Amino acid sequence: MLYHRFLIISLCIGFYQLLNAQKFENKPFTPTEVNTIIEADTSKEMRVLKITNYVDSVFLRTKSMLIKPDTQDIVLNHFIARLYKTVTHPNSLGVGIAAPQVGIPRKIIWVQRFDKEAFPFECYLNIDIVAYSDSTKLTTEGCLSIPDYRAVVERYDFVVIEYNKIDGSHHKETIYGFTAVIFQHEVDHLNGILYLDHLNDELYQQKQQKKRMELLNLVPK
Ligand SMILES: [Zn+2]
Repeated sequence: MLYHRFLIISLCIGFYQLLNAQKFENKPFTPTEVNTIIEADTSKEMRVLKITNYVDSVFLRTKSMLIKPDTQDIVLNHFIARLYKTVTHPNSLGVGIAAPQVGIPRKIIWVQRFDKEAFPFECYLNIDIVAYSDSTKLTTEGCLSIPDYRAVVERYDFVVIEYNKIDGSHHKETIYGFTAVIFQHEVDHLNGILYLDHLNDELYQQKQQKKRMELLNLVPK
């Protein structure tokens, strides 16, 4: 009897801690973030953080938190609109952007869907990659936060993503081709990872070099 009571109390504490952890993850925008978001109207882009600035470069390593989807949330709607304005701004002309790149560490990204007709930009909340293909490919990448630099990065051929739309609906989708590369790049940002990190490993570099030579038919396969 005593054991059962102990078990019930333990379960209650565990459940309470879990609820609190989720609340913490879903905590609303801070007053500073709200100010950053609403300091201009939705026709204005936001400042893109760059690794060439020390404070920015540290911030870009922040892991982003979950965001509560809510079509009625005025600040969230305002932010999503300004993030879109930023990625499509003539100074950027990106194919994707993640919220931490403008100083808001929340799991929100915009991605241009080259796998859909007319290549629309789409917004994803609380996105995660839940499965990867066995095969990989090399593609050249750049980043709005890393000025004047591009590099060849190895990425998975396709990925399975799970995400929310702003109305709270949950979706699971398999993404192929160049669009899959964009998703991998943007989800990395949400985890504080930059594409340069994929270039630092020496073994990885050697593997890349071998693949490049294979592509050029310089070594027998
Ligand atoms: Zn980037």
